[in-house]
Amino acid sequence: MKLFLSKIILFSFVVTNFFIGYCQINVPINSPFLKILGTVQDGGLPHIGCQKTCCTNPSLELKQKLKVTALSVTQPKIKSTLLFEATPDIISQWNLLENIPSAIFLTHAHMGHYSGLIHLGREALGAQNIPVYVMPRMNTFLKQNAPWSQLVSLKNIALNEIDVNSKSSIGQLYITPILVPHRDEFSETVGYKIEGPKKTVLFLPDIDKWSLWEMNLSQVLQTVDYAFIDGTFFDESELNYRPIEEIPHPLVKETIALIKTYSKRLRNKVYFIHMNHTNPMLDPESRVSKWVLEQGFNIAREGQIFKL
Ligand SMILES: [Zn+2]
Ligand SMILES: [Zn+2]
Ligand SMILES: [Zn+2]
Repeated sequence: MKLFLSKIILFSFVVTNFFIGYCQINVPINSPFLKILGTVQDGGLPHIGCQKTCCTNPSLELKQKLKVTALSVTQPKIKSTLLFEATPDIISQWNLLENIPSAIFLTHAHMGHYSGLIHLGREALGAQNIPVYVMPRMNTFLKQNAPWSQLVSLKNIALNEIDVNSKSSIGQLYITPILVPHRDEFSETVGYKIEGPKKTVLFLPDIDKWSLWEMNLSQVLQTVDYAFIDGTFFDESELNYRPIEEIPHPLVKETIALIKTYSKRLRNKVYFIHMNHTNPMLDPESRVSKWVLEQGFNIAREGQIFKL
């Protein structure tokens, strides 16, 4: 019995240390926390049809398990988990959630951000009334177009319309959508401000250019503790040196140049996310990743946990 007990103690010690070592922050079991479920741009990694080393190099086995950008926010006391984005990798991301989502928040109607909803339907999960928070055009888009409309008519999902003036309160959290300029063919695009009891987060995975945004990035950074922002492309070499103005994302190099003059404290709040398969920042060992960190910024990594 004694031996058994000591084995259990040793086991919990190892597990706890593994957990603490793996997490960004040591998370007390009772407080709300955010988890990174994926960091890749819509097309994922490996990317369809890509013959370049980013997707074919066999030594990158670990990297090829990376998932499309999503976050979860869990409040252990009320057993609530919110999922931000329904990605094409939703099946494996679902298994990383602490609870069946008490709500899903979507940013816009591009495939990496909502198409995972398809797995909630009758052919797969057969979910029952999972609340899905969306902006007005996104609401209409889902309601009026198959196959999404069937999720609504079969009550797999319950659409919950929000707008820029709304603040949704769920447990101890407040969630506010923030409009951003983006290729808005089917829906508007938003980022989210997520306010926890102690920390506030900005989640803004897709934006055309900072200069087209009606808000000022430095001012927004002052109001949050962590900012998970568009890191799609590091530089123009990933796009065969197309002119920067034609690329509908702020290059990480541009964002860094813009924010570099801000204080170290502000720079340190930034975590780049939503990286294209070609982006060397997906590899933590790359020269570019190390350079980004040296400039005082961070790169989001799957599995990181942030206490809210
Ligand atoms: Zn995207
Ligand atoms: Zn690739
Ligand atoms: Zn998009």
